[in-house]
Amino acid sequence: MKVQANLKEIQKNISEACAKAGRDPKEVTIIGVTKYVSVERADEAVEAGVNHLGENRIEGLKEKSNELSSKDVIWHFIGSLQSKKVKHVVNEFDFLHSLDRLSLAKEINKRAEQPVSCFIQVNTSGEASKHGLAPTEVIDFVQKLQEYPQIQIIGLMTMAPLTDDEAALRDTFRQLRLLRDNVQDLKLSYAPCSELSMGMSNDYGIAIEEGATYIRIGSNLVG
Ligand SMILES: *Cc1c(COP(=O)(O)O)cnc(C)c1O
Repeated sequence: MKVQANLKEIQKNISEACAKAGRDPKEVTIIGVTKYVSVERADEAVEAGVNHLGENRIEGLKEKSNELSSKDVIWHFIGSLQSKKVKHVVNEFDFLHSLDRLSLAKEINKRAEQPVSCFIQVNTSGEASKHGLAPTEVIDFVQKLQEYPQIQIIGLMTMAPLTDDEAALRDTFRQLRLLRDNVQDLKLSYAPCSELSMGMSNDYGIAIEEGATYIRIGSNLVG
Protein backbone atom coordinates (compact mmCIF):
# COMPACT_ATOMS: atom_id res chain seq x y z
CA MET A 1 0.00 0.00 0.00
CA LYS A 2 1.07 3.53 -0.68
CA VAL A 3 1.86 5.56 2.43
CA GLN A 4 -0.63 8.15 1.21
CA ALA A 5 -3.48 5.60 1.35
CA ASN A 6 -2.42 4.32 4.77
CA LEU A 7 -2.21 7.88 6.04
CA LYS A 8 -5.73 8.63 4.87
CA GLU A 9 -7.07 5.64 6.78
CA ILE A 10 -5.14 6.63 9.91
CA GLN A 11 -6.39 10.22 9.69
CA LYS A 12 -9.94 8.93 9.43
CA ASN A 13 -9.44 6.82 12.55
CA ILE A 14 -7.90 9.78 14.38
CA SER A 15 -10.92 11.91 13.51
CA GLU A 16 -13.28 9.23 14.75
CA ALA A 17 -11.41 8.76 18.03
CA CYS A 18 -11.29 12.52 18.54
CA ALA A 19 -15.00 12.86 17.84
CA LYS A 20 -15.74 10.19 20.46
CA ALA A 21 -13.61 11.99 23.03
CA GLY A 22 -14.64 15.54 22.13
CA ARG A 23 -11.11 16.42 21.03
CA ASP A 24 -9.72 18.38 18.10
CA PRO A 25 -7.72 16.18 15.68
CA LYS A 26 -5.18 19.01 15.45
CA GLU A 27 -4.08 18.07 18.97
CA VAL A 28 -2.76 14.72 17.69
CA THR A 29 0.57 14.51 15.86
CA ILE A 30 1.50 11.39 13.92
CA ILE A 31 5.09 10.27 14.28
CA GLY A 32 5.91 7.99 11.36
CA VAL A 33 8.11 5.25 12.79
CA THR A 34 10.50 4.34 9.99
CA LYS A 35 12.77 1.91 11.85
CA TYR A 36 11.71 -1.06 9.71
CA VAL A 37 11.87 0.63 6.32
CA SER A 38 14.20 2.12 3.72
CA VAL A 39 15.07 5.78 3.26
CA GLU A 40 12.91 5.73 0.12
CA ARG A 41 9.88 4.58 2.08
CA ALA A 42 10.56 7.19 4.78
CA ASP A 43 10.76 9.80 2.05
CA GLU A 44 7.41 8.62 0.71
CA ALA A 45 5.95 9.31 4.15
CA VAL A 46 7.44 12.81 4.17
CA GLU A 47 6.06 13.49 0.69
CA ALA A 48 2.64 12.29 1.89
CA GLY A 49 2.79 14.98 4.58
CA VAL A 50 4.19 13.18 7.61
CA ASN A 51 6.94 15.52 8.79
CA HIS A 52 7.54 13.91 12.18
CA LEU A 53 9.62 10.74 11.90
CA GLY A 54 10.79 8.38 14.64
CA GLU A 55 13.75 6.00 14.82
CA ASN A 56 14.82 3.72 17.66
CA ARG A 57 18.46 3.21 16.73
CA ILE A 58 21.23 5.75 16.39
CA GLU A 59 22.40 4.34 13.05
CA GLY A 60 18.89 4.51 11.62
CA LEU A 61 18.40 8.06 12.81
CA LYS A 62 21.71 9.23 11.38
CA GLU A 63 21.26 7.49 8.05
CA LYS A 64 17.77 8.81 7.45
CA SER A 65 18.37 12.30 8.78
CA ASN A 66 21.41 12.63 6.52
CA GLU A 67 19.63 11.33 3.44
CA LEU A 68 16.55 13.45 4.09
CA SER A 69 18.44 16.55 5.22
CA SER A 70 16.92 18.66 2.45
CA LYS A 71 13.42 17.91 3.82
CA ASP A 72 11.74 19.63 6.68
CA VAL A 73 11.64 16.67 9.09
CA ILE A 74 11.26 16.77 12.86
CA TRP A 75 13.16 13.80 14.32
CA HIS A 76 12.07 11.76 17.32
CA PHE A 77 14.37 9.29 19.04
CA ILE A 78 12.08 6.62 20.46
CA GLY A 79 14.51 3.84 21.42
CA SER A 80 16.42 3.31 24.61
CA LEU A 81 19.62 5.33 24.71
CA GLN A 82 22.87 4.24 26.32
CA SER A 83 24.61 7.05 28.18
CA LYS A 84 27.89 6.46 26.37
CA LYS A 85 26.13 6.98 23.03
CA VAL A 86 24.55 10.31 23.98
CA LYS A 87 27.36 12.41 22.56
CA HIS A 88 26.90 10.87 19.11
CA VAL A 89 23.24 11.63 18.80
CA VAL A 90 21.95 14.23 21.26
CA ASN A 91 22.25 17.13 18.82
CA GLU A 92 20.67 15.18 15.95
CA PHE A 93 17.08 14.76 17.13
CA ASP A 94 14.36 17.17 18.16
CA PHE A 95 12.56 14.99 20.73
CA LEU A 96 13.68 12.16 23.00
CA HIS A 97 10.94 9.74 24.09
CA SER A 98 12.96 7.51 26.39
CA LEU A 99 14.34 9.48 29.31
CA ASP A 100 14.28 6.93 32.14
CA ARG A 101 17.20 7.55 34.50
CA LEU A 102 19.21 10.34 36.10
CA SER A 103 22.52 9.13 34.68
CA LEU A 104 21.11 9.63 31.20
CA ALA A 105 19.79 13.10 32.09
CA LYS A 106 23.20 14.02 33.43
CA GLU A 107 24.97 12.95 30.25
CA ILE A 108 22.45 14.75 28.03
CA ASN A 109 22.84 17.87 30.12
CA LYS A 110 26.60 17.73 29.62
CA ARG A 111 26.52 17.11 25.87
CA ALA A 112 23.54 19.05 24.55
CA GLU A 113 24.17 22.33 22.77
CA GLN A 114 20.66 23.51 23.53
CA PRO A 115 17.78 22.38 25.78
CA VAL A 116 16.46 18.95 24.80
CA SER A 117 12.73 18.24 24.68
CA CYS A 118 12.22 14.97 26.51
CA PHE A 119 9.43 12.59 27.35
CA ILE A 120 9.90 10.51 30.47
CA GLN A 121 9.32 6.88 29.59
CA VAL A 122 7.02 5.17 32.05
CA ASN A 123 6.60 1.42 32.38
CA THR A 124 2.87 1.40 33.00
CA SER A 125 2.44 -2.33 32.40
CA GLY A 126 5.11 -3.42 34.88
CA GLU A 127 6.47 -5.93 32.34
CA ALA A 128 10.12 -6.61 33.11
CA SER A 129 10.98 -6.53 29.40
CA LYS A 130 9.89 -2.91 29.08
CA HIS A 131 12.03 0.12 29.78
CA GLY A 132 10.87 3.05 31.82
CA LEU A 133 10.30 4.24 35.35
CA ALA A 134 7.62 2.76 37.54
CA PRO A 135 4.69 5.20 37.79
CA THR A 136 5.42 5.69 41.50
CA GLU A 137 8.97 6.89 40.72
CA VAL A 138 8.04 9.62 38.27
CA ILE A 139 7.33 12.59 40.56
CA ASP A 140 10.54 12.19 42.51
CA PHE A 141 12.47 11.77 39.26
CA VAL A 142 11.02 14.98 37.81
CA GLN A 143 11.98 16.92 40.92
CA LYS A 144 15.56 15.69 40.71
CA LEU A 145 15.86 16.90 37.11
CA GLN A 146 16.04 20.46 38.38
CA GLU A 147 19.82 20.00 38.47
CA TYR A 148 19.99 19.61 34.70
CA PRO A 149 18.98 22.82 32.94
CA GLN A 150 19.33 21.33 29.44
CA ILE A 151 16.48 18.87 30.13
CA GLN A 152 12.96 20.08 29.32
CA ILE A 153 10.22 17.66 30.27
CA ILE A 154 7.53 18.14 27.69
CA GLY A 155 5.55 15.02 28.48
CA LEU A 156 5.32 11.33 29.34
CA MET A 157 5.65 8.31 27.07
CA THR A 158 4.58 4.71 27.45
CA MET A 159 4.37 1.48 25.50
CA ALA A 160 1.17 -0.41 26.24
CA PRO A 161 1.22 -4.16 26.88
CA LEU A 162 0.84 -6.30 23.79
CA THR A 163 -2.80 -7.29 24.19
CA ASP A 164 -6.19 -6.96 22.54
CA ASP A 165 -7.81 -6.40 25.90
CA GLU A 166 -9.29 -2.97 25.31
CA ALA A 167 -10.00 -2.31 28.99
CA ALA A 168 -6.39 -3.07 29.93
CA LEU A 169 -5.09 -0.76 27.20
CA ARG A 170 -7.44 2.02 28.21
CA ASP A 171 -6.41 1.64 31.82
CA THR A 172 -2.74 1.93 30.85
CA PHE A 173 -3.27 5.11 28.84
CA ARG A 174 -5.50 6.67 31.48
CA GLN A 175 -2.87 5.98 34.11
CA LEU A 176 -0.30 7.86 32.04
CA ARG A 177 -2.65 10.81 31.57
CA LEU A 178 -3.34 11.09 35.32
CA LEU A 179 0.38 10.93 36.03
CA ARG A 180 0.96 13.65 33.42
CA ASP A 181 -1.61 15.80 35.23
CA ASN A 182 0.22 15.24 38.52
CA VAL A 183 3.52 16.37 37.00
CA GLN A 184 1.84 19.44 35.50
CA ASP A 185 0.46 20.29 38.93
CA LEU A 186 4.04 20.66 40.22
CA LYS A 187 4.26 23.78 38.01
CA LEU A 188 7.98 23.42 37.40
CA SER A 189 9.37 25.71 34.71
CA TYR A 190 11.52 22.93 33.25
CA ALA A 191 8.64 20.44 33.21
CA PRO A 192 5.54 21.85 31.50
CA CYS A 193 4.66 18.20 30.76
CA SER A 194 1.68 18.89 28.54
CA GLU A 195 2.19 16.03 26.07
CA LEU A 196 1.40 12.31 26.00
CA SER A 197 3.33 10.04 23.63
CA MET A 198 1.22 6.90 23.55
CA GLY A 199 -0.49 4.70 20.99
CA MET A 200 1.04 2.55 18.24
CA SER A 201 -0.44 0.78 15.21
CA ASN A 202 -2.59 -1.58 17.28
CA ASP A 203 -3.92 0.77 19.91
CA TYR A 204 -3.73 4.40 18.81
CA GLY A 205 -7.52 4.87 18.68
CA ILE A 206 -7.86 4.06 22.36
CA ALA A 207 -4.75 6.13 23.19
CA ILE A 208 -6.30 9.16 21.48
CA GLU A 209 -9.58 8.69 23.34
CA GLU A 210 -7.49 8.79 26.53
CA GLY A 211 -5.58 11.94 25.58
CA ALA A 212 -2.59 11.04 23.38
CA THR A 213 -1.00 14.06 21.69
CA TYR A 214 1.75 12.14 19.85
CA ILE A 215 1.05 8.70 18.37
CA ARG A 216 3.92 6.56 17.09
CA ILE A 217 2.84 4.62 14.03
CA GLY A 218 5.11 2.22 12.19
CA SER A 219 3.59 -0.84 10.51
CA ASN A 220 0.16 0.65 9.74
CA LEU A 221 1.73 3.66 8.02
CA VAL A 222 4.90 2.52 6.27
CA GLY A 223 4.87 -1.27 6.74
C1 LIG B 1 8.43 0.27 16.71
C2 LIG B 1 7.89 1.25 17.67
C3 LIG B 1 6.66 1.88 17.43
C4 LIG B 1 5.78 1.59 16.23
O1 LIG B 1 5.22 0.32 16.31
P1 LIG B 1 4.05 -0.17 15.31
O2 LIG B 1 3.34 -1.20 16.08
O3 LIG B 1 4.75 -0.72 14.10
O4 LIG B 1 3.20 0.99 14.99
C5 LIG B 1 6.23 2.82 18.36
N1 LIG B 1 6.95 3.13 19.45
C6 LIG B 1 8.14 2.54 19.71
C7 LIG B 1 8.88 2.94 20.93
C8 LIG B 1 8.64 1.58 18.84
O5 LIG B 1 9.82 1.02 19.11
